[in-house]
Amino acid sequence: MVTVLDKAAGMDLPDGAQMSRKRPLIGLTRDELAAELCDFGIPEKAVRMRASQLWHWIYLRGVTSFGAMTNIAKDLRAEMEARYSLERPAISEEQISEDGTRKWLLKLDARSEREIAPQIECVFIPEENRGTLCISSQVGCTLACTFCHTGTQKLVRNLTPGEIVAQVMVARDRLDEWPQTGGDGERRITNVVLMGMGEPLYNFDNVKAALEIISDNEGISLSKRRITLSTAGVVPMIERCGAEIGVMLAISLHGARDDIRDQLVPLNKKYPIEDLMNACRNYPGLSNAKRITFEYVMLKGVNDSLDDAKKLVRLLKGIPAKINLIPFNPWPGAPYECSDWEQIEKFGDWVNRAGYASPIRTPRGRDIMAACGQLKSASERLSAGAAKQQAQG
Ligand code: SAH
Repeated sequence: MVTVLDKAAGMDLPDGAQMSRKRPLIGLTRDELAAELCDFGIPEKAVRMRASQLWHWIYLRGVTSFGAMTNIAKDLRAEMEARYSLERPAISEEQISEDGTRKWLLKLDARSEREIAPQIECVFIPEENRGTLCISSQVGCTLACTFCHTGTQKLVRNLTPGEIVAQVMVARDRLDEWPQTGGDGERRITNVVLMGMGEPLYNFDNVKAALEIISDNEGISLSKRRITLSTAGVVPMIERCGAEIGVMLAISLHGARDDIRDQLVPLNKKYPIEDLMNACRNYPGLSNAKRITFEYVMLKGVNDSLDDAKKLVRLLKGIPAKINLIPFNPWPGAPYECSDWEQIEKFGDWVNRAGYASPIRTPRGRDIMAACGQLKSASERLSAGAAKQQAQG
């Protein structure tokens, strides 16, 4: 059964367009928050203490109003309430799949009079021993990978750190995961993957700031080992990703030969496989305990032969790696088909025999179009003209 909740179904949702113009605090790093409090007039001696208090309420307790911050004086709370906001983006739609997968469509604030409020999606995938939240880093994407639905959309813009962090906040709100809300205290979101819309390494600074906040151990406290950043292979940024962000890395490989990968991931023409593999070999922190995940979407007759499997194994030689075989998720008008199941298994067996764990990712949330590469955005729903105008704006 699919449950769809929206305004019509009576959810009490704030209207994104009407969201307050107060300054949002979600998404400020600790230093930025302290600087903000200085500007606000908090005496210098007290800034660190106040910043810590706010951090605790916002990211550990998940409060949505200053009124709840009981260790801050009432007058000060009221002044903060007047100036600052802890609002999350409005949920314009929530869908729950038969298999428990949940998808939220979030309406972001328009950043100018002319911008149509963009929408992004994030998806929660519960499994037996963990729960993975898949978040987006951009609205749309510039990469145009030929098998990916997002690739057919125009990039509207990078997400801000606040918009990236807010995806986790909204998911925790809806999963009742904050201690404040009387939830059972159990962690439902145990892992975060940047595998939604966009190329995270093209939005490096904002992704870095957001992941600092999500992994801060006095807040949401998700270990960086449980955060995976997936890239199509922006080679010059890979080293910085390891050194400055320090999260787990996934590479959308999908082809073991340049001619095939050029077709599937056009970015390969700029950064071919050999350069990509060298960057992987040098990924800071790489070890057998901290492997790189290579994603490989199974496309019938394109990249799924045993010869491809052999080449893949050869390519990864010497790199501590996991291989994720992803059955292709078809979308209307897609120029590919998913490989036959038998072929996927044969491919997987070969890779396994070569010593690589190669789980075949079970499709999840298909009934709500929550699968990889199927996340839609407002940009896609806009008429071509409006989108063009916006991109030029
Ligand atoms: N730009 C980043 C993150 C977004 S894509 C990247 O390329 O890694 C997240 C994952 O979903 C990638 O591995 C992508 O190749 C995969 N994917 C996209 N469309 C898909 C589809 N239709 N079927 C299966 N996997 C898909």
